[in-house]
Amino acid sequence: MSMNDADLEGRYFSQSLIDRYSRQMVSEHLSGRNISDLRVLKAMSSIERHKFVPGVKLDEAYGDFPVSIGWRQTISQPYMVALMTEALCLDGSETVLEIGTGSGYHTAILAQLSNLVYTIEVVPELAGSAETRLGEMGYKNIKFGLGNGRSGWSEHGPFDAIVVAAASVSLPKGLREQLGEGGRLVIPVGSNQYQELVLHTREKSGFSEESLGKVRFVPLV
Ligand code: SAH
Repeated sequence: MSMNDADLEGRYFSQSLIDRYSRQMVSEHLSGRNISDLRVLKAMSSIERHKFVPGVKLDEAYGDFPVSIGWRQTISQPYMVALMTEALCLDGSETVLEIGTGSGYHTAILAQLSNLVYTIEVVPELAGSAETRLGEMGYKNIKFGLGNGRSGWSEHGPFDAIVVAAASVSLPKGLREQLGEGGRLVIPVGSNQYQELVLHTREKSGFSEESLGKVRFVPLV
């Protein structure tokens, strides 16, 4: 062990232990369920989730549940990140909008799988630490915005994909209009207790809608 292997809080984890937890996360909770997009599985194997949750033990960082990131917010459960990402059908060419940067974990996955990611966060402290973290990790294709992302970021649209990481009682007005043709939007819609994960696709004329199942997210501000 050298000082360089320790992270900012002085935690040290051996690479083989990290790999073990990461492999277990992917095989048990992602491919072991219904996630089959190989690009998504590969991104989630290679991006080290524990780096996005400072002060948390490895078994929690890679566990099948959301984890607190402070400010009453959570990093989404790995399965939920995978499910939402898979629904976007990214091939690497896309411009993506993410609403709710949080820890930046999902942002990193999206950045690896698309061409350019715009991400908006309303909590300044989270926005700041995610930007620093992703900058240090070397991501060059992420643009950060601070503020309320409820109505999207129209000046950078149209987007090929939009992902909303927090729940809304109804689809925010004008959001899916920021999709280009064939574009896809995933958002948890429903009450504070539980929601339906909904996929909206922009067709030649109008939109189609599909439910991806029941979910539980923190509410969109
Ligand atoms: N995907 C993130 C987790 C997001 S939790 C991750 O992997 O870490 C939801 C995030 O959405 C929180 O950080 C919360 O502060 C943010 N948020 C809630 N309402 C928002 C809004 N209206 N605009 C932008 N961000 C918002």
